Amino acid sequence: MITMPPHLEIHDDRFAALVHPMSTLDMIADGFTWTEGPVWFGDHGCLLFSDIPSQRLLRWSETGGVSVFRAGSGFNNGNTRDRQGRLVGCRHGMRDVVRTEHDGSLTVLADRHDGKPLNSPNDVVVSADGAVWFTDPTYGRISNFEGYRDAPEQPCRNVFRLSPDGDLRVVVSDFTQPNGLCFSPDERTLYISESGSSHDDAVPSVIRRFTVQGDRLQEQPPLAEIDTGLPDGMRCDMLGNLWSSAADGVHCFAPDGTLLGKIRVPQVVSNLCFGGPDGQRMYITATRAVYRIFVDVQGAEPWTRRRG
Ligand code: MG
Repeated sequence: MITMPPHLEIHDDRFAALVHPMSTLDMIADGFTWTEGPVWFGDHGCLLFSDIPSQRLLRWSETGGVSVFRAGSGFNNGNTRDRQGRLVGCRHGMRDVVRTEHDGSLTVLADRHDGKPLNSPNDVVVSADGAVWFTDPTYGRISNFEGYRDAPEQPCRNVFRLSPDGDLRVVVSDFTQPNGLCFSPDERTLYISESGSSHDDAVPSVIRRFTVQGDRLQEQPPLAEIDTGLPDGMRCDMLGNLWSSAADGVHCFAPDGTLLGKIRVPQVVSNLCFGGPDGQRMYITATRAVYRIFVDVQGAEPWTRRRG
């Protein structure tokens, strides 16, 4: 019988193969306000993440520690990369989705729908065909803490798909507050978290599941319900397991929805990503800090995986 450390909660034997008894939970950066949007840049040997209220994008590396990547980030929240390796992020302040080009210049990809400003784009993924999928809840409009207090102009809290030729379409419109999203490794399934319980206790904290049919989504039964707090950012590993943020840590679900296990984290988790020099580290943004833990599986996003 292998004894796991107390921060690893095994609910199913399959989880024991995804972690390790020596997987320590290390705080690698601290002193922030509300961290979010972790994204791995192995080609630059660093992790980028947001501290939303302080309007900063931060860079962390093993050798250099923490430094400011971008001040005045416009309450930047979720981040990802496209297949060209460019940073794509969501800015509550500008109510847009913005791409950072290789020369450092910024290109606004989307900021309006139906002639009106977006609510406050929250999280984003880019599919292999170059389409940009993002959520647009109202968290950046509710107060001045992580945006600018203002009444939303959009009638719904939508999920959008921006095609490579610039066509912006609503793909789901019935979320209370759509939040994190991620693709299965084959991109046939898109998972989107419902974090509407932050406003209404009656809204279930579920991870909704959709079959991707070209530029449209076909809803399937939810993958799972989060039993502690609400789901925010999520990532899939290359085996198709989904790792979700929650109030007590990171919850890992099999593709059939079985809760395999939890990584218990001492602060409320907002998001996570895979990365590290060997592709087998998980970086976890959790309230004031960023944590790192070894996982025995690599992420579904190709740029996070070990080369060669
Ligand atoms: Mg989020």
